[in-house]
Amino acid sequence: MAKSPIVTSVEIIQIEYEIPDLAIEPIIGIPIYQKGSSITPKSHVLRINTDAGISGEYYGGNAVEYAAIPGLASRLIGKNALDRELFYNDAKQALRQQAGMGRSQIDIALWDIAGKLFDAPVHQLLGTYRKELPCYASTYIADFDPDGLSSAEAMADFAEQCFELGYPGFKIHPWMGQPLDKQIEMVAAVGKRMAGKMDLMLDPVCTYETFGDAVKVGKVCDEWGYYWYEDPFRDSGVSAFAHKKLREIISTPILQTEHIRGLEQHVDFVLADGTDFVRGDPDYDGGITGLMKLAHAVEGLGLDLEVHVAGPDRRQTMGAMRNSNFYEMGLVHPKHPSMRPPVYADGYVDDLYAIDKNGMVSVPDGPGLGVPLDWDYIDAHTTDHAVYD
Ligand SMILES: [Mg+2]
Repeated sequence: MAKSPIVTSVEIIQIEYEIPDLAIEPIIGIPIYQKGSSITPKSHVLRINTDAGISGEYYGGNAVEYAAIPGLASRLIGKNALDRELFYNDAKQALRQQAGMGRSQIDIALWDIAGKLFDAPVHQLLGTYRKELPCYASTYIADFDPDGLSSAEAMADFAEQCFELGYPGFKIHPWMGQPLDKQIEMVAAVGKRMAGKMDLMLDPVCTYETFGDAVKVGKVCDEWGYYWYEDPFRDSGVSAFAHKKLREIISTPILQTEHIRGLEQHVDFVLADGTDFVRGDPDYDGGITGLMKLAHAVEGLGLDLEVHVAGPDRRQTMGAMRNSNFYEMGLVHPKHPSMRPPVYADGYVDDLYAIDKNGMVSVPDGPGLGVPLDWDYIDAHTTDHAVYD
């Protein structure tokens, strides 16, 4: 007899925490290393409660997504928490003019409920492919601190340190808004030091001004055999036409679609020859349900789906994929191993030192997302708690 846990309420818990030695990068507003400064970010936990006494819990997603969740909560209350495919499709229609905001975090929490109900990790419910994931070290954005990632040689030193820790791959996030010759110097320095030893990736986070700049740096990636080149310039990574042209000029594989929303839009981008590797993210692409659809769509084209950044949900999902190369360990920095708050119990962490000597992390085997949240930490840092029932 199938069990049918009915959703009774949805909770959004906001937490706030101070992180030393970080400042806000002025152009795109994400943290960079700056000794002596500190930031106090807010983030959220989503909890979906059911009449079966099981709650789905997810830490992740951004404030914009959470702004949309109260509007979705009323559609969830009274519904079967296992009807994820129905929710995916209903939310897709309901949020067709809001870029799908908020549906992803709900889907991930629903997967946590299913795993707890059946006492199985999500990777088992999806169908396990592997339990160990190879990682690349994904850096903080380059900074201006004399002890930080503030020069080409400092970035090369950090790549070498990551190689010695066991990482098989290393991805540069360079400075925002700095002169192109300085940018090229960093790409070349890391290539010169580490090419042939580990896979190198470059993600300029769309900072280069023009297509021409993207071509110039791409040719440096070619020279040093970079594994992929991601979101180079100010189209914001959304022009399939421009990246098709870029692919015709340079030989380094391109990784796009981090900034494309939706399964059909991703497939259209690939069919327009806009990318080699395909990016997917459970927080942006419809949760674990949406990410697996995308992985399978890409598998059907013979290509690979690369999962964006880290977390238990990413590990569970990648554990059920063949066509994915790397777990993105990040963001990491030589003086600042992680900017994530310690929200997980049982010692789970994603930081510079989380890998084993072979550069791998394991897929957690607890029920649901596999790792319980540390409610002592979360309760001690809660600044807002809303309940929808
Ligand atoms: Mg990226």
